Amino acid sequence: MDTALADRLAAVDERIRDAARVAHRDVADITRIVVTKFHPAALVAELHALGVRDVGENRQQELTAKRAELAGIPDLTWHFIGQAQTNKARAVRAAADAVHSVDRARIADALDAADGAAPLDVLLQVNLTDDTGRGGVTPEGVEELAAHVAGRPSLRLRGVMAVAPLDEEPARAFERLRACADAVRAVVPDARWISAGMTGDFPEAIAMGATHLRIGSAITGPRPARD
Ligand SMILES: *Cc1c(COP(=O)(O)O)cnc(C)c1O
Repeated sequence: MDTALADRLAAVDERIRDAARVAHRDVADITRIVVTKFHPAALVAELHALGVRDVGENRQQELTAKRAELAGIPDLTWHFIGQAQTNKARAVRAAADAVHSVDRARIADALDAADGAAPLDVLLQVNLTDDTGRGGVTPEGVEELAAHVAGRPSLRLRGVMAVAPLDEEPARAFERLRACADAVRAVVPDARWISAGMTGDFPEAIAMGATHLRIGSAITGPRPARD
């Protein structure tokens, strides 16, 4: 067992508890997703042995391969957090328990058409930058997309997801995400998930009300180079 991994996980979890306490939030309302992208399936297995149940991947092929490799571990929840392509929707749907990156009607339609055995949990990815080339629906477009997704019978709209821009205080950006979360809840009242907070900004995300943290390198250590 990698004691450094166990130590990093414990240290992050302690910081999560501290931030929740400061924000007067119940830590039980916060899901810590460990982002395992670029790391081998063996690392996911080690994390599982340490009690991790939620993992995040950002590439469909890698997600599909790791999930197959770890099929013997049934109680893992796989979160897809990467750019979703319509031609990969069937494979994403087959491998993911939740998709955090629905940012346009077409991808929602493709995921819906790929219908699975169970409803698929989806979140709307919001672009908090002013670069329209980035992934994510604009804050102005959130309500319309929420209504569209709510109309897809096999999708369950759960909430919103975003990455804080690099050139802004995360707390300020997360305020805008919170407003988007409220807009989604005006359409689907029980869509309460807010997926926000990474290695560099998860305490700020907890203060804003994040329910799902996506933490990679603070727990896994540096990522191996991408192929
Ligand atoms: C890689 C990634 C993360 C985790 O990043 P860290 O900074 O390593 O915690 C979170 N969210 C998304 C969308 C990512 O691609």
